Formats: sequence, structure tokens, C-alpha cells
Amino acid sequence: MAQNILVIGELDDGAASTTTLELLAGASSLSDGGSVGVTLLGAGASSAATSCVGATVAYVNDDSEYDSFRGDQWLNAIAGAVESSSPDVVLIAQSIVGREIGPRLSHRLGTAVAMDCVSISNDGGATKATRPCFGGNAMATYGFETSPAIATVRAKSFEILESGSGPATTEELPGAGESRTAIIATEEATSEGLQIQDAPVVVCGGRGLGEAEAFSQIEEIAAAIGADKAAVGASRAAVDLGWYPPSQQVGLTGKVVTPDLYLAVAVSGASQHMAGCSGSKTIVGINRDEEANIWSFSRYGIIGDYKQIVPALIEELKKAAGN
Ligand SMILES: Cc1cc2nc3c(=O)[nH]c(=O)nc-3n(C[C@H](O)[C@H](O)[C@H](O)COP(=O)(O)OP(=O)(O)OC[C@H]3O[C@@H](n4cnc5c(N)ncnc54)[C@H](O)[C@@H]3O)c2cc1C
Repeated sequence: MAQNILVIGELDDGAASTTTLELLAGASSLSDGGSVGVTLLGAGASSAATSCVGATVAYVNDDSEYDSFRGDQWLNAIAGAVESSSPDVVLIAQSIVGREIGPRLSHRLGTAVAMDCVSISNDGGATKATRPCFGGNAMATYGFETSPAIATVRAKSFEILESGSGPATTEELPGAGESRTAIIATEEATSEGLQIQDAPVVVCGGRGLGEAEAFSQIEEIAAAIGADKAAVGASRAAVDLGWYPPSQQVGLTGKVVTPDLYLAVAVSGASQHMAGCSGSKTIVGINRDEEANIWSFSRYGIIGDYKQIVPALIEELKKAAGN
């Protein structure tokens, strides 16, 4: 049954972000012939909207005041797009924007929000949202009794549409107006290479490495896979020991990653860690404990001492890459 879907888009350097394009792909299939709207706010929004494959209508405003996200300003504009498009479903990325806008929009509209979803389906016109629960150890599927259904969705939950047309119509949303929040300073976290949330491969080191220096081996695995493909993550235990920066922590209190491949080296697989990576397509463990919890999640695993396994793995990866 057809559904009207509204995607709350985000800009990344003036272009529609990857997660926006993913959500539009998901919205296209969920809509079953209904309309797919996308909101884009900030400098370059109008031109970015033309690349929003899968959207039938774009709701934009190019006001650069929207560039630094402030919830109250965004919420007013988004509420306007909701009023114009009367969506059955509102999809938002599980990002800084989504974490704030999801609950605030649901409160404003008097409806429900499902946060941190990994899949959304249209079950004969009824929206179903699936999200991890019990720290990533199980999945729960929710239905909605109120409309619109609002869901924040993890990155890489949908595949971007390779071809198709952009929005046929564009509607102008109001400018940013006053905000109750003043941004007094911004500090950019420095990190080299791929962000762990974007990397198709994440190689993660845990406390079982035994020392900070061993992270150079984890970095070597990532480098052998390719600087454009792999990023390094760390468990909280390793981060708390000061072995790796907090920006690379995976888990409940760290980043949520959904790569194609997650290689967990000397990581036990505690539920709080798995909450950040259980959505990975393939999990591979290297652990000397054959009872470790990581095996409950891994498709493949090597039981043994990483000190013997990792050098051999690096050698094979280098051979495969022709180095
Ligand atoms: C509220 C809360 C939030 C939390 N948030 C997070 C979070 O965001 N992210 C997170 O990671 N954790 C989080 N934790 C901590 C979590 O519970 C675990 O303590 C942590 O994930 C353990 O990290 P680890 O697997 O690296 O270490 P350990 O549990 O110590 O596991 C080390 C593993 O290495 C293996 N090992 C040891 N030596 C070797 C060797 N030579 N070769 C191969 N394997 C070896 C061991 O068998 C073991 O399985 C949180 C905890 C709480 C209470």
C-alpha cells in the first residue's frame, strides 16, 4: 500500500550526505508509489536537492544560518515540510541531527519515534521499525499506533540508488530565524583517513592486545587492506587505558558502525561493545578464548594468540595486494 515518506536530509560540504541518499533509496522502496519528500537546510541546499535520486519533492532553504545545526531552527522548518507533505513516515539519520530532531519532532507532532533502527518495512501500509535491543544481543520490531511514524535509521541500512531521477518540484521552507541556542565555539576533532562510521572495513583492537604499542599492528592490518577502505576502532577498555583515542571507540558509549567487515582482534564482545558493531555485515573475531562472547556474533573466527595470527594475516593481506 502506498505511503508518503519524508526524509530529513543533511548536507555534507554542500552536497546531500551519504546517509540522506541511503534514506531516499529506502524511502523509494517503502513508498510503494507514494510521494517521497526530502528536506535540505543550509548553504547549497537547492542545488544539492537536484542530486536527491528517489525524491519526488524537495523542501529547501539555502540560509547559511542552518549550517551549524540548532534544533529549534531546524524543527520549525521541518514541521513546515511535514505540514506540506502530510507524510505517513518520517525518516531521519541516526546522526547528531537525528538524535535531537527525532524526539523533538515526535513531541511536537504528538506521535511516536523509534530510534536507532536498522530496518524499516511497509507491511501492507503499516510501518514496522526494527532496532537492536539488550545492548545489541537481540532485535525488536515495533509498529506505530500514531501517524506519522518517525524513525531514526543507522547509516548503511539501505543501498544508495545508482540511477533514477531527482525531485520534480521544489518548495521553499522559511529561513532560520532566531534561535534560543548560541554557538560560542566549535572545535574540530582531528582524525586522519577514513571516519570509522564511513569505512567499509573496521579493524578493532581490544584490551587483549596487552599494550598500546600493539595498536600499530591493528593499523598495519587496516593499511594492508587499504587506507581508502579500512579504519581502526578500539574497545572502551582499550580507550580507557589510553591506548587509542576516544574518537575511535566503538560501542554503546562510542560510535555505532555498520561496515561490510568488522574484524575484532582481542575483543571479548561484551554487549556494550556489540551495541556499536552488531549491525556489521560480517564479523570476524581473533581471540584466544574459545568461550568468548564475540563468537556469538562472528561469522568467521580464529581461536589463538593474536601475536601469532596477526603478523601472518598482514603478510597474506600484503601478498593479496601485490606488495
Ligand atoms: C555503561 C557502559 C557502557 C559501556 N560502553 C562501552 C562501549 O561503548 N564500548 C566498549 O567497547 N565497551 C563498553 N563498555 C565496557 C564493556 O562492558 C567491556 O568492559 C569492554 O568492551 C571490554 O573491552 P575488551 O573486549 O577490549 O576487553 P576484555 O573484556 O578484557 O577482553 C579482552 C579479550 O581479549 C582476549 N585476549 C587476551 N589476550 C589475547 C591474545 N593474546 N590473543 C587473542 N585474544 C586475546 C581475551 O580472551 C578477551 O576475550 C561499557 C560498559 C558500561 C558499563
